[in-house]
Formats: sequence, structure tokens, C-alpha cells
Amino acid sequence: MPETELTMLETSHAYFNESCDLLELDDGMRQVLLNPWRELSVAVPIRMDDGGIRVFNGFRIQHNGVRGPYKGGVRFAPAADADHTNALAMLMTWKTALADIPFGGAKGGVQVEPSELSEDELHRLTRRYTSAISHIIGPNRDIPAPDMGTNAQVMAWMMDAYGQSHGYAPGVVTGKPIELGGSYGREAATGRGVCDVAALAASDVGIEMRGARIAIQGFGNVGSFAAQRMEEIGAKVVAISDVKSALYDNNGLDIDQILGHVAKTRTLEDCPGGESIANDQLLELDVDILIPAAIEGVITMTNAVDIKAKLIVEAANSPVTYGANAILEERGITVIPDILANAGGVIVSYFEWAQNIQRFRWPLERVNEELYSIISSAYLRAADMVKERQITQRSAAYAVAVGTVARATELRGFI
Ligand code: NAD
Repeated sequence: MPETELTMLETSHAYFNESCDLLELDDGMRQVLLNPWRELSVAVPIRMDDGGIRVFNGFRIQHNGVRGPYKGGVRFAPAADADHTNALAMLMTWKTALADIPFGGAKGGVQVEPSELSEDELHRLTRRYTSAISHIIGPNRDIPAPDMGTNAQVMAWMMDAYGQSHGYAPGVVTGKPIELGGSYGREAATGRGVCDVAALAASDVGIEMRGARIAIQGFGNVGSFAAQRMEEIGAKVVAISDVKSALYDNNGLDIDQILGHVAKTRTLEDCPGGESIANDQLLELDVDILIPAAIEGVITMTNAVDIKAKLIVEAANSPVTYGANAILEERGITVIPDILANAGGVIVSYFEWAQNIQRFRWPLERVNEELYSIISSAYLRAADMVKERQITQRSAAYAVAVGTVARATELRGFI
């Protein structure tokens, strides 16, 4: 266990190195798989509404493209610096490999607090960022998608900005509005996939999903759809939170009622139908399944000893720190890693891209069926490795993913 917490980049390197040891990969292959293939850093100047000019830092990092075009979200957040984007790009390489979909891994980001921009400023920022990276993206090169701070509208602007110089190409981004070639089921896909994987894992650790007590941190895209799906399959969501507040009801919250409140106020604050608790308390509740669906690094070496859930499903990217992961392992708490748990988003992004290329739309039922087929296969591939090698779900998921990319690298024969 480390003496202090590792950064997100150090964490992704540490898990990667562990999987290389397990797979007995040689040093050369480790270097090929560790280093990003391309790191682009751009200045994003925009005219603000008050007439002044501000310049934001933007990035697009393409970690590995051996299995297909790079794929990964764009994050608009103050913390979206080069190291952060690099760590997230690497996670995408393993996520697409574990799901066995034909993409590599990338991530983009602009260091900005989007809530401080007006709609017009956000629009100008998106167009400027897109044109700055447009020579390295494209339907067969690199396909961005939404992440924290970006949404379907931002993707529509990106598609339009790219199309102005490259022609109509809806497959350049995924997570678009339905009217512009988005896929049915994409918005809900990550949360739905989280629940599919949680149910598979619950059955392996002996939790009955019907009536299982669930706590979800984060009530944005992923958390809110996960909460709705959990309710649909008969689990009891007893706690949810957003950045400002947390809500708890031992008998189960009424998710529809909460969605109504959030649609009106954009926050969980003053939401009726539950007791208000401190945000940190949510993580330590006595529940069956804990779903961190907000930000990275929330389960730490400090609070990991107080976690009472039997199963943690990483809906956010990297919510459990490297040190906390070791503590949870020692305590026998099962953690389903991000590269498996939140893969539903990129899987349905793959369906969206395929539909755009075919100029053909799938009905929602087909999207959800094929999502389950792909994500459950990924779960089972990792679960087989867990049994075979007697290792954790995270080590197994990494080993399957890194092994897949290593084999593809050898077969391509470019080194
Ligand atoms: P979002 O911006 O829609 O929602 C984030 C939510 O977390 C909001 O409710 C916010 O208030 C809350 N939050 C922020 N800080 C918090 C804190 N300290 N405590 C409690 N709540 C807090 O983002 P999202 O798209 O739902 O993404 C959430 C996570 O899932 C991110 O780590 C993202 O990278 C990951 N993810 C998202 C997708 C996707 O399809 N959206 C896919 C894969 C992974």
C-alpha cells in the first residue's frame, strides 16, 4: 500500500504495471502500451460576452489506436489538465479492449468551469476547441463523446464545427441529440450498464438484487439513470447525492419525485421525500451496494476503513484511490472497476457510430439487448480470470484488457 495517495495518472500506471507483471509482458511491449501515441495541447481563445478575450487550455490525448479509431469523451472542467486527460485516455484503451469493441482510447478536455460561461460563450468555446483538434479527429480517426461538463448539445456543435471544413460526418462524435443521428438509449446507457454489471456481480457475491439497498453518489447523467434502472429492477435506492447535498430514506427514495424536483431546481437541495445527510456520510452507509457516480478519488485511504457496502461498483472513472483499493481488498469488499462498470456509455457510442455509418437507426429494444450482450460478456471474461488466477475483479479486468491490446499490437506487426 502506498504511504500517500497516488494521482490519477500514477494510479493508472500502477494498475497497468501490475497487469503487465501478471501477463509477463516484456519491457518493450510495456513501453508501447504505456505511452500515449499522440498528445495535442491547444490554446482555445474566445471572446467573452463582456467584450474581453479569455484563453483556455485544451487537450486531446490519443493513448492507443491499435484496435481501431481512438474513442473517448471530452471533459470541460477546471481539473482537466494534461495528466488528468492522459490517465482518462489510458482508461479508455482498456475499456474498449475489455468490451471488445473496435476502438482505441483517447480523451479530451478544456480547463474551464462551464457553469461560469453563458450558453453563447460555451458555444464559441466548443467551436474553437473543435477546430483546434479537427485535424486529428474524424469518423475513422478519433471520435469524441460527452463527459463531465459536456452534453448532447456540445456534441451537436462539435459535429457542426467539424462538418464545416470536412463535410457532413455525423460519425465524428457520439452522444449527439437523436435529431442529429444520436442513438436511442445512449443517454441512459452508462447508468443502465452500471446496473447490468451490478446485478451480475451481486449474484456472484450473494446479494439478492430485489430489495437490495443501494447508495449512489452523484445524480448527473450516470447516477440519475442508474437510480431509475435500479428502481425498475426492484432494488431500493436508499441514498443519493449531488455536489451540494445528499438525501436518505431507509425505506427507499422515490426516484421519479426526485427527478421532478431536480428538473425544476437543478439541485437536490431542499428535495422533499428524504432526510438530508452530509455528502461524506453517504459513502459510509450500511448498504449492500455503493455506486460512486460523481468524480474521481472519493473513496480514499481515510474513509475506506469505514465503508460498509459489500459491493462497490465504480460508475465514475477512478472513484477509488489506489491506496483505498488495497484496503478494500484486504477487507474483502468486492470492487467492480470503472473500465468494466461504466463501459455502457462507450458501448452504445459504438452502436451510434455504427448506425451513423450505415445511415440506419436501431430501435431502443435492440440497443438495450446488444448492450447487455456486450457488457455481460465483458463481465464474464473478467470473472473467468478472477476464478482462474484467484485475483480481484480489477486485476482480472486489466489483465484481459491489456492482454487484448498486446496481442493486437503483435498481430499488426508495426513494431
Ligand atoms: P455529470 O456532470 O452529469 O454528473 C456528475 C454528478 O456528480 C452531478 O450530480 C454532480 O453534482 C455530482 N458531484 C460532483 N461532485 C460531487 C461530490 N463531490 N459529491 C457528490 N456528488 C458530486 O457527469 P456524468 O456524465 O454523470 O459522469 C459522472 C462520472 O461518470 C464521471 O467520472 C465520468 O467520467 C463517468 N462516466 C460518464 C459517462 C457518461 O456516459 N456520461 C461514461 C463513462 C464514465
